[in-house]
Parts: sequence; C-alpha cells; structure tokens
Amino acid sequence: MFVPGKVIHVYSHRGVYKAAYVPRTFKELRRISLAGNMLSNHTAKSYFEGLLEVQTVRDAQESPPTWTAYDEDDTCCCCANRFTWASTSDSEAQEARDKHNCRSCGGLTCDPCSRNRVPISSIGLTVPVRVCDRCYNDILGGVSAASSPMTSSLLAGDEVERSLSDCSSASVHEEEKEKPERRRQKRSVVVDDLVSQMRSSALT
Ligand SMILES: [Zn+2]
Ligand SMILES: [Zn+2]
Repeated sequence: MFVPGKVIHVYSHRGVYKAAYVPRTFKELRRISLAGNMLSNHTAKSYFEGLLEVQTVRDAQESPPTWTAYDEDDTCCCCANRFTWASTSDSEAQEARDKHNCRSCGGLTCDPCSRNRVPISSIGLTVPVRVCDRCYNDILGGVSAASSPMTSSLLAGDEVERSLSDCSSASVHEEEKEKPERRRQKRSVVVDDLVSQMRSSALT
C-alpha cells in the first residue's frame, strides 16, 4: 500500500513542530498502525494549525534549547530530587513518566517544579508551554522590567492551539543538524505555500 500524493510529516522536536517531506515509499508509511489521536490529528484544522506553528517556529529569532535526554539525568534541575521521590514506584517506566523537559532551558524537571505555562515567542512558541520554576522566575523578572521585549511578547498571546500531540517518531529526527540557510529558506517557502493553499481552500 502507498499513501497517495505528497506526504508531509509534521513532528515534534525539542518541543516545537517541524515539517518535512517524506517519500511515499518510506517504509514506515506502508503500514498503518492505529493510535488514539490518529483521526483528530489529521483533520484539516489540526493540520493547518500544525503548519502555522511550523511557520512561526521557522521565523523565530532563536532555535529551541537542546533537551536533556531522559537517560541523562536522574534528578530535577530545580529541586535536585530524584524523579521517583514522590511515588511509591521506583520503576524505570514511572521515572520516565515523572520527567518533563522545560521548553525554555531544555533541562529535566519534575512536575511540581514545572506547573507554570508561558509562551516563549523567541523560539516561536506563541501558546503557553511548560517551563521550570527557575525559568519562570527569570521570565517574570523580565516582565517586571518595563523595557523588556518579553513584556510585549508575553502579553501579545495568540490563539493558535497545539492540537497535534507530540509525535512518537520524533526521535528519528533527533540527529537532524542545522541546515544551510539556503535550504532552510527553500523549505520555508514550501510551508508558506501550503499554509496559503489551505487558507484559501478554507475560505471557498
Ligand atoms: Zn523538582
Ligand atoms: Zn527551565
């Protein structure tokens, strides 16, 4: 079985959405494995919103931080406790569930130390995302200084929703290195084009 047409894979990498063309002969696409969010992730609205985020991320001034891998650290970057301290289970699976990456610094943090959500416009995240308490305090410090550019970006807000869930195949793309600027521009043109096509077809 082959998926018809051109295939664009929207995936999550370091907490932001990216998009790439995938050849329709790609082995993983020839077998459809069912997932709970499969249908909702592929509606025109979800796809459009995903592409809009890809576009915003590509236009952002900064790249997202490098994420600490789950196996790189056993302790929270804020409170320094082991991730299983609050649970009775000491299993690896539970430890993985207790770990979260801060979208601002990329460090591993426990849930109690990362309950706050803020947009990080410098890396193109216009909706509130998980940040550790340390980063949250830094960001708040920036807001209280009236001259900070963070003030306007935080207050600006945005209605784009993150309706696509993190894609499990993100790790496939982890090795992706920075592309030369020329190639990046070419890919951005493709995304811009798709977004405008979807926008115009939605209006008709
Ligand atoms: Zn903590
Ligand atoms: Zn942080």
